[in-house]
Amino acid sequence: MPIIAVVATLSAALGGRGPAPAKPRLVVMITVDQLRPDYLTRWRTQLTGGFRLLQAGAVFTNASQDHGVTETAPGHATLLSGRWPAHTGIITNAVGVIDSSTTLLVTGNPGASPRRFRGTALFDWLHATSAASRALSVSRKDRGAILPIGSARQEVYWYDAGLFTTSTFYRDSLPPWVRAFNALRIPFKAAGHEYRLLLPDSAYAEPDSVPWESGGHGVSFPHYLPTDSARAALVYPGVSSMDSLTLAFALSGADAMRLGRGDVTDLLAVSLSTTDAIGHTFGPDSREIHDQVLRLDRYLAWFLDRLFDRYGRDKLLIVLTADHGVTPYPDFSRLHGHPQAQFVNIDTLVSAVNQQLDHVTGSPAPRDWFVFDPGILFLRDNGRLAALGYRTDSIVDVVARRIRAVAGVARVDTPAAIAAADTVADPIARRWLHHLSPDAGAAVVVTLAEWNAWGWPSGIQIAEHGQPSDLDARVPLILWGTGLRGGVYGTRVNTVDIAPTLARVLGLSPLSVVDGRVLSEAIDVRWLVDVK
Ligand SMILES: [Zn+2]
Repeated sequence: MPIIAVVATLSAALGGRGPAPAKPRLVVMITVDQLRPDYLTRWRTQLTGGFRLLQAGAVFTNASQDHGVTETAPGHATLLSGRWPAHTGIITNAVGVIDSSTTLLVTGNPGASPRRFRGTALFDWLHATSAASRALSVSRKDRGAILPIGSARQEVYWYDAGLFTTSTFYRDSLPPWVRAFNALRIPFKAAGHEYRLLLPDSAYAEPDSVPWESGGHGVSFPHYLPTDSARAALVYPGVSSMDSLTLAFALSGADAMRLGRGDVTDLLAVSLSTTDAIGHTFGPDSREIHDQVLRLDRYLAWFLDRLFDRYGRDKLLIVLTADHGVTPYPDFSRLHGHPQAQFVNIDTLVSAVNQQLDHVTGSPAPRDWFVFDPGILFLRDNGRLAALGYRTDSIVDVVARRIRAVAGVARVDTPAAIAAADTVADPIARRWLHHLSPDAGAAVVVTLAEWNAWGWPSGIQIAEHGQPSDLDARVPLILWGTGLRGGVYGTRVNTVDIAPTLARVLGLSPLSVVDGRVLSEAIDVRWLVDVK
């Protein structure tokens, strides 16, 4: 081929000829709380709905929430910020979005806000280039709704006691469309509802009646909502219909706000929490989680079909991922090749250390010198101990040694040791490095041996996540829609790559230094060159 023809062909391929690609009108961020990537392959033949539809997109088979405490708040904060918890400041659920200076509209319960979230997120970058862009973010959980859009004061709603509401950080009153949706009282009307399997019994390989599930009560199908309507609304977050309600609410808001109908790109973020609720109660190997994932697949098909109808496929950019995975019940793991699997609890140890410190310092009242938030031991009174003449380093050494001796603990590291570790050879250190900011106040970080889980002091044990293990950190990641190249990508990627990749497709410049990279292998080459 003559050189001029090669250049012309290349130029056409790169978008130099023909219409420049149009930007999507609506970015849809779908987060499934506690969705492990192996669910999508384990039940692949039965997933005929939304999960199958999205398989036509760019499917990343080795994606992680690559940080230390794989909980909901830190996970959601990485998604559209492109930054690790060390940089978003959201390092645990306990110090996530709860904000006592706010209350919830209508219910008057304690509120939440993005007060602790640092830096900017994708919506801020979008808004900086098109002031008319708007965002709607919804979830059953406060943290699932708030954190994907960072600090922006947009339309952000979550579920409380039977209705969708928001905190006084965002609004003074609910808009008419939210009031109208709440007036349907769907969770109240579901009182007494019976949940049977979606498919015939034979479609489920998992045993139904398993003694360690759900505290040993109500372990088999059918499951029921309470007959009292207020009670039904309270426990509604634990049943599959909560996800369909959240999707219907999101769609209703998108319609009312006319999201994506103008000349600019808008953002719709939906976080679906029931997979987490059922995963905790019944575990990732239960018949209940299998059924939940099948139902969610059908709900997503319903939701996506309606988006396609309203916007057309070429106007949508859809992301599907999760905030974390989950570790099986240790009871299950012990029977499946991991005889050492157990729940681990160091609360008594930490209390004993605090009492000892009360004693030696002559503290007039009991103090929480150390606070343990599973995975991270915080030293709250570092300054006071130092002022009293104690060397906190040696105290931390002693406590670390005691924790290391607890059965089931794999390692205890100081932030200094993590900072000095080889993060290529040591993925656990890498995940902790991504988690801790210098001002986090962590004395040490504690990692359990894989297949173990942090137990609750109450004695009621549930399947857990929160570790820097592959079980808890690995998540599905699918990018679908305009500007993307479908295919299966096996390279190791992270959820912090989502925001810079979307920014590239949308032609935006991140306003914060991002930790992720542009997943350019999955971007249509015309978008890499020329976006109008
Ligand atoms: Zn959870």
